[in-house]
Amino acid sequence: MKYTSTRGEAAARSFDDILLEGLAPDGGLYLPEDYPRIDRAQLEAWRGLDYADLAFAVLRPYLGASDDAALRALLRATYTAQVFGSAEIVRLKPLDARIRLLGVSEGPTLAFKDMALQLLGRLFEQALARSGGVLNIVGATSGDTGSAAEYAMRGRTGIRVFMLSPFGRMSAFQTAQMYSLDDPNIHNLAVQDVFDTCQDMVKAVSADLDFKRRHAIGTINSINWARVAAQVVYYVAGYLRAVERIGDPLDVTVPSGNFGNILAAHVARRMGLPLRRLVLATNENNVLDEFFRTGVYRPRVAVETRQTSSPSMDISKASNFERYVFDMLGGDAARTRALFVDALQREGRFDLSADPAFARMRDEIVSGSSDHACRLQTIGDVWQRNRVLIDPHTADGVAVARAHAAPDVPMLVVETAQPAKFAETIAEATGQQPPRPEAMRDLESRAQHFVVLPPDVDALKAYIAAHC
Ligand SMILES: *Cc1c(COP(=O)(O)O)cnc(C)c1O
Repeated sequence: MKYTSTRGEAAARSFDDILLEGLAPDGGLYLPEDYPRIDRAQLEAWRGLDYADLAFAVLRPYLGASDDAALRALLRATYTAQVFGSAEIVRLKPLDARIRLLGVSEGPTLAFKDMALQLLGRLFEQALARSGGVLNIVGATSGDTGSAAEYAMRGRTGIRVFMLSPFGRMSAFQTAQMYSLDDPNIHNLAVQDVFDTCQDMVKAVSADLDFKRRHAIGTINSINWARVAAQVVYYVAGYLRAVERIGDPLDVTVPSGNFGNILAAHVARRMGLPLRRLVLATNENNVLDEFFRTGVYRPRVAVETRQTSSPSMDISKASNFERYVFDMLGGDAARTRALFVDALQREGRFDLSADPAFARMRDEIVSGSSDHACRLQTIGDVWQRNRVLIDPHTADGVAVARAHAAPDVPMLVVETAQPAKFAETIAEATGQQPPRPEAMRDLESRAQHFVVLPPDVDALKAYIAAHC
C-alpha cells in the first residue's frame, strides 16, 4: 500500500515511511492510494476472530508488513484483556431498545485514544529498533491525549516523551494520571501558563528545523494515519457484534473533535462495511455540525473556542477533516489545496453548499450538537432510566443519536471515555460519584513527578537538550 498527500505534491510513500511523520512535506495529510475492500464472505469469516486477529486481518493491507507472524504477535501483545479490561477488548453495552454503546474506553487512561496509541507505542518501538534511530516526542496536552501518549510510550526503547501541560489547570484526576508516572523516558513539563501557550511552545520547537533534526523531535498528534487505521478495527468489531445478519445496516454516532474517530468510521464504510449513516456529535464548539448543516466550514480562532464540560471535544479546527473532504472530492488534490490553503487563508472559510460532493457527504454523515445543560440532562436521564453512567462526551453522542435514531436500524454510540474521568460533571448530573477501576483508587495520593517550566521556548529547548 502506498500513501499520498491530500495536497498532491509529495511522492508516494510506504507505511514505514509515514509512520513516524506528521504532515506531508507539502503541508497535506497522508491517505492510502486506495482502500482494501471487505466483502460479505470476509465479514462472515471474521465473525469468529478474536480482536487481535481481527486487527491483523483489517490492518495487514495498510501496514504492508513483510513479517506476518511478527505483526500478529505485536497485535496480540497490544490487545490483551489485562490492558483493555476484557477478553473482547471492545464491548457493546445496551442502553435502550434502539441504542447501544460501543465501549472503546476501557484502556489504561479510560479514553478511546488508548485503542490506537497502545498500538502506536509498539509500532514506533519496532520501527526504531530496525532503523537504529531514536525519537523524542514533544507534545502539549489539556488532558486526554497527553496521558494516552505517556501510557503508550512508557518504558519503550528509543522513545522519550516531553509532554507540556498547563500547570494547575487540569482536573485532579487527569493531573494525577500523568504526573504519577515515574518512568525515566517520560518527562512531565508543567508550564506556568494556559494550554494554548503550551501548544505554541511545541510549534516553536517543531519550526526550528535545525533543533528538530539534531534532537530527533517528533509529535504524536491525531493526524497520524496509523491512529486512524487502528480505529477502523473497532468499527468492524462493533458491526460484527451488533448486527443479526451480515449485510444488515447499522448507524453509528461519534462524539467528535478533530474528526479522527469519525474518519475511521468513514474509512470502514469505504472499505465496504455496511454502515448506513454516521452521526457526528459536537459540543458547544460546533464547527463540524455547522459544516454538515450548511456546507460552510469556518474554523474558529483560539479565543472563540469555548471551555466546556466535554473538554476533549473543545476544538477550533478539525485537523483530520481535510482527509475526508479530499476523499469526497474524489481525490482531487488541487481542489483540496484551493479550499484548505487558498480559501482558508484568504477568507477564513470555504463553502461547499452548492457542490455535488456536499450532497454525497450529507447522504453519509448527519450531525447535531449538544451543550452543558443537554449533557447533564442526558447523563441524568440515562442513569435514571437505564442505570448506566456515561461520561460527558458520550452524553453529547447519546443526545444527538436520540434525534437521529431510526426505528428499524440499530444505532451504536461510541463511548469515548469512562465517567470516572469526569467525576464532577457526573456528580452534578446524578448526585452519584462514578465508580473507579480498583487500580486507580489511590491515584491522587501517589507521588507526582513533574518539572515546572516558565512559558519560554528557550527554557523548553534547554530542558530537552539536557535530557536526550
Ligand atoms: C479525543 C476525544 C474526542 C474527540 O475525538 P476526535 O477523534 O478528535 O474527533 C471525544 N471524546 C473524548 C473523550 C476524547 O478523548
